[in-house]
Amino acid sequence: MREKIVADGLNDGAFDVTNVGRHLNAKEFNEALQLPGTVVVDLRNHYESEVGHFKGAILPQADTFRQELPMVLDLLQDKKDQKILLYCTGGVRCEKASAFFKHHGFNDVNQLNGGIIHYTRQVKAEGLQTEFIGKNFVFDQRLGERITNDIISKCHQCGSASDRHVNCKNEECHLLFIQCENCAEKMNGCCTPACMEIVALPIEQRRVHRKGKGKELHRNVYKSRLRPNLSEILNRQLTHQHE
Ligand SMILES: [Zn+2]
Ligand SMILES: [Zn+2]
Repeated sequence: MREKIVADGLNDGAFDVTNVGRHLNAKEFNEALQLPGTVVVDLRNHYESEVGHFKGAILPQADTFRQELPMVLDLLQDKKDQKILLYCTGGVRCEKASAFFKHHGFNDVNQLNGGIIHYTRQVKAEGLQTEFIGKNFVFDQRLGERITNDIISKCHQCGSASDRHVNCKNEECHLLFIQCENCAEKMNGCCTPACMEIVALPIEQRRVHRKGKGKELHRNVYKSRLRPNLSEILNRQLTHQHE
């Protein structure tokens, strides 16, 4: 058990991981959201909350769950006596996080039972109002389930409203990013002109490329695969072409 806690980045000594928060169903969660002083925290990564989240939620800009908890602890330092509502995709992350916050002196820790997935099912079945807007990001073929028609994020390439997550069409890159329909057409489903070039090669040459300098090429294109600043890269390359 202890080893597992360390693996999650929760290495500040053993604490009772079974002392979790109160589990709320969809109706209870909605009601708690309306109470004055309630603080709602999205425990998912930034690319997940970017396309959909609960109204008014704190959205920590974490790349991983390991980063997330210390970050949230910092953000909520002066809110230990307020009602805290936690949520994640399926409820698993909240089990650990709620015990972590209770251990750190938070007195009213609550969590969405079964996560957003279960919440949206209950909302539909019981005809409740959804307080979650946009898309629920999931790692399947669709990369997300639309919950409401609100589009709360922007295309990472041109900045127009879009919540269309795609993987770069260059298989060796496969970068996950948000790309609008226009940019998808213009960029042939790729993240950068470098990937467009590779995708345009005949299959045999692409294979050679994969063995060779493909990976290296990518390290030079963007600093982080999680925050690749695609619009900046495109602008830089366009300016370069005009010089
Ligand atoms: Zn675009
Ligand atoms: Zn790419």
